[in-house]
Amino acid sequence: MVETVKDCHYPWTWMMVTADGAVKPCCFSSASLGNLHDNDIDEVWNGATAIELRKYIKANRVHPVCAGAPCKYVQNMQIRLVQVEAPQLGDNPAHVNEVAG
Ligand code: SF4
Repeated sequence: MVETVKDCHYPWTWMMVTADGAVKPCCFSSASLGNLHDNDIDEVWNGATAIELRKYIKANRVHPVCAGAPCKYVQNMQIRLVQVEAPQLGDNPAHVNEVAG
């Protein structure tokens, strides 16, 4: 089974705090959920961005906090999108004629 964003558990089980106080849902995210210099940990953990991130993950959507992350969940979503968007041989009648002719 290919794991996608819906399989990520980090926003419920993990957080990373960087030296400058930024709180991230994991070590892969380049964006933060908030900053401990501005809010306490409960406000960040239960804040609007964290709640929205969890909703996106339940819906198998890539939240902006996770966009472009090198984790397997986001990377597998990108591979799936490429597969869905890639034209299929045989979908193009001109190509079929080329092969048949
Ligand atoms: S970046 Fe990847 S591992 Fe981190 S919370 Fe988002 S989906 Fe999960």
